[in-house]
Amino acid sequence: MGKREGKRGKRRRIPERTCVACRRKAPKGMLVRIVRTPEGEIVVDERGKRNGRGAYLCRNRSCWERAIERGSLARALRTALTAEQAEALLAYAASLPASADEPAAGLQESGRRTQDE
Ligand SMILES: [Zn+2]
Repeated sequence: MGKREGKRGKRRRIPERTCVACRRKAPKGMLVRIVRTPEGEIVVDERGKRNGRGAYLCRNRSCWERAIERGSLARALRTALTAEQAEALLAYAASLPASADEPAAGLQESGRRTQDE
């Protein structure tokens, strides 16, 4: 605490992101990035390279449906989804597995929040 850790720790940092639906943290590659481009388009960014404001969702349909229906994706992207955009995202979600495999032991869900329902 208070002490600088320095930049040459031996552990390689794996960037983690949080799914906006279930709030689970996972390495970037395990999640799908959705981007609101500067033009206002909503795109699924498989490679994580697009410019714009991004949000992450697990690779499973239930998180996508939850995030789209409850508006947490729109909130994360600081926009409102049009019906067409929501539909396109749901269509993409339909290609994903229905639900995630149980997280491997050791993956904690400490940051989990229940949203108002
Ligand atoms: Zn999730």
